[in-house]
Amino acid sequence: AFNFSPGPATLPEPVLQQAQAEMLDWHGVGASIVELSHRGPEFMQVAHETEADLRTLMAIPDDYAVLFLQGGATVQQALIALNFADPGQATDYVITGHWGKTALKQVTPYVHANLAADGEPGGFRDIPARNSWRLSDGAAYVHYTANETIHGVEFRSANGCDIPDVGDVPLFADFSSSIASEPLDISRFGVIYAGAQKNLGPVGVTVVIIRRDLLERAGQPRAGIFDYRAHLKGESMLNTPPTWNWYLLGLTVKWMLAEGGVAEFAQRNARKSALLYDTIDTSGGFYCNEVATAARSRMNVPFFLHDSALDAAFLQESTAAGLISLKGHRVLGGMRASIYNAMPEAGVQALASFMRDFQQRHG
Ligand code: PLP
Repeated sequence: AFNFSPGPATLPEPVLQQAQAEMLDWHGVGASIVELSHRGPEFMQVAHETEADLRTLMAIPDDYAVLFLQGGATVQQALIALNFADPGQATDYVITGHWGKTALKQVTPYVHANLAADGEPGGFRDIPARNSWRLSDGAAYVHYTANETIHGVEFRSANGCDIPDVGDVPLFADFSSSIASEPLDISRFGVIYAGAQKNLGPVGVTVVIIRRDLLERAGQPRAGIFDYRAHLKGESMLNTPPTWNWYLLGLTVKWMLAEGGVAEFAQRNARKSALLYDTIDTSGGFYCNEVATAARSRMNVPFFLHDSALDAAFLQESTAAGLISLKGHRVLGGMRASIYNAMPEAGVQALASFMRDFQQRHG
């Protein structure tokens, strides 16, 4: 089947096959990598190679630290305020969907979070124009969500909604659902974080990329386990790390490099999303996606049938055709096709022809 699930993990088939082959005996050691000490030479090799490969894949400069942490993206949403906003310092939030709202909620116990721009009055169908943002003086950072997984709204480097310019204030971004989907100029950011479970591998490990000079900020009083500096010093092993997830992330990154890297995935993702939006837009209103064209996500395509009475038939027939997990998020309803790096072009082609065929039969 082609799996259009938004998560909790979308892994490419070759990665799953390799993991299966290595499950009982990793590289002839006689044990699985999950059973070996995280401080032993075998797992240390996995950890170091994974970081080196991710740095190559994403062209991460040396003046950025890379951490592999637990707690998902949501925990990082709280930790960024604890680590990088000094007592009394404001933080700025640009909200373009559900996850931006979550990010703001996580910091309100600690710091003043200013709602600098809000797409909600427009139903999260577009990115508020940069000249409408109300940024605070002396903010610790400006935070935005690069791709809103539920609302299908993306800051797209190729389409006029580029990385926002916020002057000298560090830009923090949640890249959970679009990391490594296209080339990205990391040097434009203070912090990038992403739960691995969309493009990078399985749920359970979160990548945090931090410009090193920011680690000198005092931040708020916090326990060591909430301290990014301590995590860096402890090589992301302050407590027992999620070794299995980290290992699978490593295999996924190696697969992306072997496939041609982020430039190649950018092309595939552009073709896949263009085909799907074209199928929707040329359906004469049978299907619709209401997001402004320039802000349409290349990773998550929410869409509605003109008559919601057809939803059940659409889901039943698509599942029978081997196109699974198309049900939309409960916040929006309708359908959603998540088409991360691991989704082959053949999967999107199959979905597009199914949609045309369904329209002919039910239109
Ligand atoms: N941010 C975005 C953009 C997401 O898509 C998600 C989950 O889907 C999250 C944050 C929350 O991630 P987690 O469940 O890893 O905390």
